[in-house]
Amino acid sequence: MKKKFLDRVEILAIGSELLTPYYLDTNSLYLTQQLNDFGYEVSFKTIVGDDLENLLLCITLALDRASLLLAVGGLGPTADDLTSLAFAKVLKRKLVLNKDVLRRIRLRFKKRKIAMPSSAIKQAYLIEGAVALPNRRGTAPGQWVEAGTNKIVLLPGPPHELKPMFEEFVRPRLEAQRYKHLARKVLKTTGMTESRVESLIRDLYPRKGDVKVTLLARPGQIEVHLSAVSVKSQSQAEIKLERLRKKISVRLRDHIFSEGGQELEEVVGNLLRGKKKTLAVAESCSGGLLGHRLTNVPGSSDYFLEGVVVYSNEAKTDVLAVDPSLLAKHGAVSFEAALAMARGIRQRARASYGLAITGIAGPAGGTLRKPVGLVFVALDSSEGTEVEKNLFLGSRRQIKFQSTQKALDMLRRRLLGLSVFRGEKTKK
Ligand code: ATP
Ligand code: MG
Repeated sequence: MKKKFLDRVEILAIGSELLTPYYLDTNSLYLTQQLNDFGYEVSFKTIVGDDLENLLLCITLALDRASLLLAVGGLGPTADDLTSLAFAKVLKRKLVLNKDVLRRIRLRFKKRKIAMPSSAIKQAYLIEGAVALPNRRGTAPGQWVEAGTNKIVLLPGPPHELKPMFEEFVRPRLEAQRYKHLARKVLKTTGMTESRVESLIRDLYPRKGDVKVTLLARPGQIEVHLSAVSVKSQSQAEIKLERLRKKISVRLRDHIFSEGGQELEEVVGNLLRGKKKTLAVAESCSGGLLGHRLTNVPGSSDYFLEGVVVYSNEAKTDVLAVDPSLLAKHGAVSFEAALAMARGIRQRARASYGLAITGIAGPAGGTLRKPVGLVFVALDSSEGTEVEKNLFLGSRRQIKFQSTQKALDMLRRRLLGLSVFRGEKTKK
């Protein structure tokens, strides 16, 4: 029991607003990322409202099952801020006035030339034995409390107060006390389904608990999350991780587009810049998402020349000189239209590469021959034009995203010389 207990970390997010449909507990995501960074994994996350009885229940349970408890929120001056009181009750300790903290709070109000409200004094009462963690961005200090085998950290709710406090005062303490090291890596893939990825690497899944593989599926992107722990050192953890990464990389080959956290648009951008090539895009059903993703990358003006959203047939003709008779004959969602759009945009922008997307994002507008999710993606360059016909599943937004993912991956493959011209292909 004890060994297991010592491993467990719990985050307790406190605030009734977090139990409504309007607020997300983003603090726990931030804390989890920070903790993972230096070897702590989170076992439990709890959200509880500003209710003393419920708080007492959650704190009691958390202290029983986790050795490190990070409680967030409810440290402020108002009547619904009950965190210190609740912890004091469970720990059977008093709340004691910390004169240093009171002085700091007084000073803060004085500097801002505001009379200090009497309610502010409440924030200077800390749990007996707690170390105060200074709050540079607000009034309520954080608290570091040790009780038997439990370590408790109380942090303020506003993210701009919590983050600097964590980084300056909590992280160094936790890093000094850690007893295991964690190495992590994310391999991002595209072009395969989750079950396909899984079937390729399943037999490599480690049996021992010190190395882990988790798949995370998003539309158009399957991520393989690897982690390894070592009680000896960081480099030991890295070695174990690297051993597994190598084996998995061999299996997933060029479906992996990044191992360092980059998104596909960044990878493609770096390749374009490295090869001194330029890009222009023409979009129909993706409505500008491809251009948006490309231009989210800082420095994209080095290679991105132009993006047009050509939604109507007229726009395709006016902007890209797509022959109206072609559209009348084959329809705007067709192999021929995608091809003409890619050529049209490349010529118009005088770019090295032209990408085009045309399809049916749904939920309405599908027919038997042209169902929702049918998307043609075309890539044109001096090497020729390639068109891929896709049938994507999902919501309108998911179909839009997958279309852009496909377009970016076609370009990545072309830039890396991996491009497999499958079936429907025309050479100029
Ligand atoms: P204050 O002194 O501002 O009252 P506090 O420590 O009492 O600080 P809360 O009152 O619980 O914190 O929360 C203040 C604000 O911080 C909330 O309105 C919310 O915007 C933000 N906040 C609180 N908890 C979280 C959370 N878990 N994730 C993201 N934001 C949060
Ligand atoms: Mg508050």
